[in-house]
Amino acid sequence: MPKSTHVSELDLIAEIRRAFPASRRRTVPLGIGDDCAILRPPPGHDLLVTTDFTLESRHFRRETHPAQAVGHRCLARGLSDLAAMGATPLAAFLSLALPRNFPGTPIGRRWLKDFLAGLGNLASATHTPLAGGDTAQSPTETILADIVLTGIAPTGTALRRSGARPGDDIYVTGALGGAAAELRSVLAGKSPRRASKGDYPHLYPHLYPQPRLAQGQVLRRRALATACIDLSDGLSTDLTHLCAASGVRAEIDFTALPIHPLAQTQPDAFHLAVNGGEDYELLLTAAPTTRIPGKIAEIPLTRIGTILKRNFRHPPITLLHTDGSREPLNPGGWQHFTTQELFVEGK
Ligand code: ADP
Ligand code: MG
Repeated sequence: MPKSTHVSELDLIAEIRRAFPASRRRTVPLGIGDDCAILRPPPGHDLLVTTDFTLESRHFRRETHPAQAVGHRCLARGLSDLAAMGATPLAAFLSLALPRNFPGTPIGRRWLKDFLAGLGNLASATHTPLAGGDTAQSPTETILADIVLTGIAPTGTALRRSGARPGDDIYVTGALGGAAAELRSVLAGKSPRRASKGDYPHLYPHLYPQPRLAQGQVLRRRALATACIDLSDGLSTDLTHLCAASGVRAEIDFTALPIHPLAQTQPDAFHLAVNGGEDYELLLTAAPTTRIPGKIAEIPLTRIGTILKRNFRHPPITLLHTDGSREPLNPGGWQHFTTQELFVEGK
């Protein structure tokens, strides 16, 4: 039996505070330690808020996902939502439920330390202070986390899903399918216990996705995009969301899709790229007269298709092949309650 000691809620909060040294900044005059945090967005800015669950067995498995990566992904998902709207992070809030006496065991303590380190590294890299949260005992043996992210953008300038117009070009940042390809090897037990993500982020698109904050901010500041969404559920699903919000349809050029090198090694590379999900790249549309740079902050942008007028005789998304033939591209990405279990053996 591993040695077990009692760790109280107060001890836990103290440990979290140690992992996130208070950063003094004008926009967060009061962080962890009081009943509420106080946020002070600069005048002339909108406040943006997003929240994301990270649930054991649903979003990660303790046996296959290093705790550091779980912490990183927990924050990355929310940051990617801010990136999609061109926002700058203001503060994060972490609600954490841990199994009974989990932090009192050496294994649990190690897990928590690594989880906080993963979250903390990304928080400092993106200048996102942790300004509060909640800590509770999980009613089951599973770890549950919820992160709330707040961000700011000059009033009325945040990018939205709803601005795409017929004739617009469709672009994507980075490459697609890498996260799904890496997930496959992670589930096969081939994940590094402690991946050194800092050196080679492109090697770990699933364990250490890089939210495209800088790219989103440039798109917003230079008013380059008419609409934007982050690719959390997969291109086919997220493009359907963007089209629905904008009242348009889309055609994707089969040969133009930038497929991640990790996906290219798989027999179903195209499926991973369009349905894989969790790539956390940005999908955006731009007027044909807008000059979109080939790269923003070192990340390539690729034109992958065109926005068309909605027409109920055509499916919302079609795929254009080199011989000029077309086929419907149905939303095949992740959807809670309808998609089969992500972690089903062998998938
Ligand atoms: P209250 O009971 O008034 O809600 P708590 O005792 O839960 O306050 O929390 C005390 C302080 O610690 C608060 O500022 C809260 O935001 C912070 N806190 C609690 N849990 C977490 C956590 N998981 N991550 C970050 N801050 C936390
Ligand atoms: Mg209180």
